[in-house]
Parts: sequence; structure tokens; C-alpha cells
Amino acid sequence: MKSYQKFTSAKFAIVLLTVALTMALSNKMVFARSPETREIGQKNAPIPLDSQPDVTGEGNSTYDRVLHYDAPLALSPHDHFLLEYPIKFDYIFWTTADYRYGYRVKEFGTLHKGLDIPAVEGSPVMASGEGKVVFAGYGLLYGAGNKKDPYGIAIKIKHRDNYEGQTIYTVYTHLEKTLVKVGDEVETGQVIGSVGLTGNTSGPHLHYEVRILTNEGQFNQNPELWLTPPLEHGVLAGRITNQSGYPLNGWKFILTSLESGRDWVISTYDPDVLIYHVHDPYYKENYVLSDLPAGSYQVSMWYNYKHYTSIIEINPGTVNYVNFEGTKGFVRGVPPGNLNTDFLN
Ligand SMILES: [Zn+2]
Repeated sequence: MKSYQKFTSAKFAIVLLTVALTMALSNKMVFARSPETREIGQKNAPIPLDSQPDVTGEGNSTYDRVLHYDAPLALSPHDHFLLEYPIKFDYIFWTTADYRYGYRVKEFGTLHKGLDIPAVEGSPVMASGEGKVVFAGYGLLYGAGNKKDPYGIAIKIKHRDNYEGQTIYTVYTHLEKTLVKVGDEVETGQVIGSVGLTGNTSGPHLHYEVRILTNEGQFNQNPELWLTPPLEHGVLAGRITNQSGYPLNGWKFILTSLESGRDWVISTYDPDVLIYHVHDPYYKENYVLSDLPAGSYQVSMWYNYKHYTSIIEINPGTVNYVNFEGTKGFVRGVPPGNLNTDFLN
């Protein structure tokens, strides 16, 4: 049985070395994917017909896939990328700020506790990690068999890996069909179903959730902190607060790549994320933006009629933790949770 705690320092060193080599070579590397990216503001726009996903799931595609680091990945003890992307895609998209994890969905008034991955109907959905199927079909929320369930056809996997002894689950919803049944053992990357339109959805996409089981129950987590990033890409996360440490909710700020000039609008979580404890037990973040090309960026924000800016680095394969602390401005921070490095031993 594989466990996160058995993620040895030897393996850690190998991963570190591999990534150091990759980073050293990165100036000469051509990133194996199309440079086109989705514009901010387009939600779940269909993938162009000439680049539709390989629906067979056998990898005989005629175009380049976005390649991700293998899980588990933890370049620093601050990271816990234990899961792999559930859909293969040929370019990176960034969901618009108002439809990300931790925001209130305007159409339904509910807190969004998953990651929406746009894909055409029929695209294969893959298990994010090894584990056992604990739910498959209609009724994940309302009870098995209930076809009115907002999740539609869904699959839930209990993973073999755990995080600090806490069980990890992943949930795949709005499926067209499931290829697995309760009790099945699945491997990482195994095709378990396909993208569909079942349940409450405005268009074909995979709504994907990561949950951890604690003594108090099951809590959703932002999948962007658990899924290994694409090669040469990193994750930005942190806490946007006033100078007394009080979180600024639904607060927008801008991230600009100094290399490409591209802007991203980032919005902090809805206050209910903190109330329902569905932020990371370690990061205690109130914003995340993943899939950022490694490099230099400017962050900028208006606060109390003053414009604050700072230059930050996004390092690949890791969480880059940046806080805003009111009149103190942006600060490169350390997550406030207790650091557990047991898994490195
Ligand atoms: Zn969703």
C-alpha cells in the first residue's frame, strides 16, 4: 500500500534533481503544446473541432498534450500535489475569476467547491490516483439512483494515498456515463467515464472535487492545490487580508506576466469558504491560481485608495505563497498552518 508518509527523502531528492535538470534545460526546451490559451471571460467554451480530445483514451492523438508532473510531487515540504489531472487537454485554460473554486455560482447561488474543466462531450475522464470506487451513478447528493441529483452521473473514489493520515477522495460529476462500479479498484490515469451534461450544468464540462476526511467530517479542498501542475508551470496561492490579518473576501487583484504581458484577474474566496472550513488545513489560503508559466510577474491591487504593486517569481512545480497585508502591501509569506514534514522522512 502506497502512502504519502512513505514518500521518502530519497524519492524527494530524485524529484528535486529531475526538476532542477528540467529547470536548467528549460531555456532550450520547447514546451510541447499549442500556445493558444483561452481568454479570460470565456467559461467552458468548446474546444475547437480541429483539436478535439482523443475520445478513445488510448493516446493516439494527432496533437500535443499538455504534459504534467507525475504525482506525488512535493518540491518543498509546503506542497502536497498528490493527484493527477483527470482530463487530458491540448492547451491550458484559466476559468474566469467568478467561476473558480470558492466563489458563489450566480446561476445557482451555491458555493462552488470544485474545479470546472471544460471538455467536449464524450471526452475520457481518468482517475486522479489509485483507489477504490465508493460511488458510481446518479444520486451522490440526493441518494443513490435519484436522477434529479444536481451532480448528475457521478463517480467518487477513495484514494489509497492519504494526507497526514486523512483519507483523500476525488469526485467526478456531470458525466455522460460511468465505466466503473462501486467496489472497483482503479489505477491512476484509468479511464473511468466520459464528460457529459447530466445534472445542473450549463454546458459539457467536468466538475471535479477533492475532499479530505478529518475527525469532523469530509471537507472540500481547492483541487488546484492537489493536482500536479503542467511541466514548467507553478501555482500562486496566499492570503489577502487587511493589516490586522482579517481576510478581504471577494477582493479582486491583477497578476501580469512580465514575459508575455498577459493579465489574470484573481478574486479572493467567498466568506463561506472560511466558515465551512473548505480551504486547505495547511495553506489556509483565500485565493489560488494554478497553471501559471514559470517566470516573473507583477501583482497589483487597489486598497484604501492606494495602488500597491510587487514583483514576484512563479517557480515551477510548486506553490508560490504570496500574501497581501493591507497597508503593508504584498509580502512573500509562509502558510500559517503547522508544517508537517513526516512524509519527507
Ligand atoms: Zn463546477
